[in-house]
Amino acid sequence: MINHENNASLQQALSPFLENCKSIGFVPTMGALHKGHLSLVEQACKENDCVVVSIFVNPTQFNKAQDLEKYPRTLDSDLELLKSIKGNIFVFSPNASELYKNNISSKKYNYSGIENEMEGKHREGHFDGVGTVLNLLFRVVKPNKAYLGEKDFQQLQIAKKLVEIENLPVTIIGCPIIREKSGLAMSSRNKRLREKQLNEATLIFKTLKEVQQNFDILNFSQLNKLVENTFKKNRFLELEYFEIANSKTLQTESSKSPNTSYRAFIAVFVDGVRLIDNIALN
Ligand code: AMP
Repeated sequence: MINHENNASLQQALSPFLENCKSIGFVPTMGALHKGHLSLVEQACKENDCVVVSIFVNPTQFNKAQDLEKYPRTLDSDLELLKSIKGNIFVFSPNASELYKNNISSKKYNYSGIENEMEGKHREGHFDGVGTVLNLLFRVVKPNKAYLGEKDFQQLQIAKKLVEIENLPVTIIGCPIIREKSGLAMSSRNKRLREKQLNEATLIFKTLKEVQQNFDILNFSQLNKLVENTFKKNRFLELEYFEIANSKTLQTESSKSPNTSYRAFIAVFVDGVRLIDNIALN
């Protein structure tokens, strides 16, 4: 398994696959890999002739300099983890100037309003940064299929819209959320937490499960109250937002409509570390 740090070297390695119409799977990541990432790579390896895993902490999707600075970077152990997977894997870990050339900035996207909900509301410019980096990566890697996790459900919808907007011949495949035994969604940011904080953070998924279990019994306002009250009682966790949204449009609705699929979305600070999660409700 070779780690390519520049576009030309990756493209040269991939050229026999392109020339022979072999399928290229792609898993974009920001590194600090865990079993959630590996599940995407495993699925991609099963469904393609080769797989590219990018490891790139994208500066344009962070709206807080400190968050970018503190993002865990563990390239050596990431490469070790990837070696444990059977498959034809190419790693791509460019630096910002290799990928962005001399213009490290975001392109503005209109994703039909999805960008203005939840993560978009709380992290200004985030999805412009995500769209920009995915567009750059897709143009270098030229994958047939790209695998993204439902852990970042809104980002997954954004990626689907992006390929339409940019007219890219890539199929976006959503993959299920992988969790710790405790239910906590695996995340690179969990690496910044100590045991006590990790224990407290299990309340996030427990609360989502409680919302799911009560979805048929309580209305949206009661469910919102339930979540607010749960987090008010915990001094280690700070709720940033909880929203029940239409799974397709990601718009929040004030009451249930028939034949509509809903999901609950949550963002919580654990001692300054921001964690997100979501769950299907019906
Ligand atoms: P990140 O490195 O956090 O940008 O994540 C890279 C990809 O892995 C994204 O498509 C994420 O949605 C996905 N991912 C992250 N955590 C998980 C998880 N716990 N389960 C499934 N996919 C995940």
